[in-house]
Amino acid sequence: MIEPNNSIPFNKPFIVGKELHYISQAVLRGRLAGNGYFSKKCEYWMQEAFKANRVLLTTSGTAALEMAAILANLEDGDEVILPSYTFVSTANAFLRCGANLKFVDIRPDTLNMDETLLEDLITKRTKVIVPVHYAGVACEMKTIMDIASRHGILVVEDAAQAVHARYKDDFLGTIGDLGAYSFHETKNFICGEGGALVINNKIFLERAEIIHEKGTNRSKFFRGEVSKYTWVDEGSSFLPSEIISAFLYAQLEEADKITSKREAIYRYYYKALKPLSQKGYIQLPHCPEGSKHNGHMFYIILEKSKHDRDHFISHMNRSGIHAVFHYVPLHTSPMGRTFWNTNQRLKVTEDISQRLIRLPCYYELTRDDQDKVIEKINSYFSNSWQRSLHREASLSGAESC
Ligand SMILES: *Cc1c(COP(=O)(O)O)cnc(C)c1O
Repeated sequence: MIEPNNSIPFNKPFIVGKELHYISQAVLRGRLAGNGYFSKKCEYWMQEAFKANRVLLTTSGTAALEMAAILANLEDGDEVILPSYTFVSTANAFLRCGANLKFVDIRPDTLNMDETLLEDLITKRTKVIVPVHYAGVACEMKTIMDIASRHGILVVEDAAQAVHARYKDDFLGTIGDLGAYSFHETKNFICGEGGALVINNKIFLERAEIIHEKGTNRSKFFRGEVSKYTWVDEGSSFLPSEIISAFLYAQLEEADKITSKREAIYRYYYKALKPLSQKGYIQLPHCPEGSKHNGHMFYIILEKSKHDRDHFISHMNRSGIHAVFHYVPLHTSPMGRTFWNTNQRLKVTEDISQRLIRLPCYYELTRDDQDKVIEKINSYFSNSWQRSLHREASLSGAESC
């Protein structure tokens, strides 16, 4: 589809500085396979900036979650607790390793896993809890870590959306035993497709390197710790090429600039839409005291039914503004229904998933474009909302006769 020139996309990949220069440097260095100069630069950068024990670049956030699932050493029937309101990869990574998935409902304020429901879901077979930091807003990590350590359960943070965001003094992804980042083109720092595994618990360091290098001890060999390299464990090709890492490194170098820009976009939407939330038309995102989000996403939650959302999205689309919704809760999806008893409802997840709308949010989004989005939202509520209020008023009028 050819977009009209004045349309505002939902997302737009961007270049912030030296991406293309670094790609040509990678070529000139004469080595494009993974685990080279730029891959190491990215890994060291994150280890320093996020105070992470060890970071391994991967081909995607999905691949990082898959590595975490392999490291968790699950046996058939072991249980993994995760939200249903998340991207499919959070679930797939563990499902592929034979896990029994236990979905937990979300909190209505942050849309993150409701930590108060965890204890009731834990059984002798629970091996992993997977907090997903939705929209780059931190889950209640202190409570989650306390519960996990009391029961001897691993914590794998799905921090795909939360790179550079914080829970108190800690960067997200560095708190659990393992963390997963994504650099997909829709995330904050991008390289097309890419990700990273953050290894916080030292017991996973050695095996993570092996799984990362196709099940061989190649990393040890290059450090001179073994005299030849060979097949020692299961693994796959989880490492991205130097072309990808070179692009990513240029973005990481500008992390502060990228994050401040996104935070400014978030604040601008928030301030402009506050009056609509005060009137009770919409709910705005919430970031708990002490946490710092990374401006990954700006969403609004309509106060009424699903019908309103389709109507709202087509109202925006008609002016070339691409607002979108997500997620279809995993427990109600065709795949989820193969193992989830549909009588087991997740009330907040089901409710929110029908009312949430994501607004255009990307590094190059201009104030002018944000103003257009805001103006269209306001016009929706001043026209359509008023019409429906009139309708309700006349209906209730009929009832009282
Ligand atoms: C984007 C995302 C992933 C997957 O990352 P990819 O790099 O696209 O594989 C996993 N979990 C969540 C919550 C995400 O938003």
